[in-house]
Amino acid sequence: MQVAELVEENRQGWNLENRGALFFPFEQECIIKMSICDHPLTDGWCWEGERDDIYSVTSAYRLLLEKDGEEEGSSSVVNDSWLWNEIWNLPVLPQIKVFFWQLCSEAIATRSNILVCVPLIGDECPRCGDCVESCFHVVRGYGWVRGVWAGLELDVLTIHGFQRVREWVEANMRVMGVRECVEFMTGCWAIWERRNKAIFEDAELRADLVVQRVRELLWEMRSSGVMCS
Ligand SMILES: [Zn+2]
Repeated sequence: MQVAELVEENRQGWNLENRGALFFPFEQECIIKMSICDHPLTDGWCWEGERDDIYSVTSAYRLLLEKDGEEEGSSSVVNDSWLWNEIWNLPVLPQIKVFFWQLCSEAIATRSNILVCVPLIGDECPRCGDCVESCFHVVRGYGWVRGVWAGLELDVLTIHGFQRVREWVEANMRVMGVRECVEFMTGCWAIWERRNKAIFEDAELRADLVVQRVRELLWEMRSSGVMCS
């Protein structure tokens, strides 16, 4: 179907008669609100989130954030924009950006998140076993993870008082330079990778191996041109 088929022949309005089954009521309302151009143009795909009309996930996410901001009117959304912009603009491998975005959105498969869907699994940390495995717990400076941050010579915040991982991440990144932010993001990714290897492949939880992995990834990013040396 083409959009033109939904427009009255005289171009004076929308004709959604007998099309009720094609659209939900809220979609029909949105369609009717759109003004119709009074001179004929060829149909085509366009995306208002980018100047060149080409869709991108980044611009879709930005539009959703703006929409949330309009709906919530909350100052935290303004702060979120800073963090999301930082994540997308830093010279880091794409898979690390995606992971980091999920981490900051509390959306990685930690025990506490899995428990929401699968009530048979406990939410205690499979590494230390003495507290809930939240997203925050995975990457903050506990136990062997502290050794990772020390090995990378990154001065991450270990003070208490942060409610969510995103607040802690932002507090760290606001005082870090680009190089430190890249190492911090890559470090979080490599900690999660090692955590999964420990659970699923019985690998050792060793800070030195994570530090080595981060250095390899940084070298890979420099040599592939993702990151400037
Ligand atoms: Zn733990």
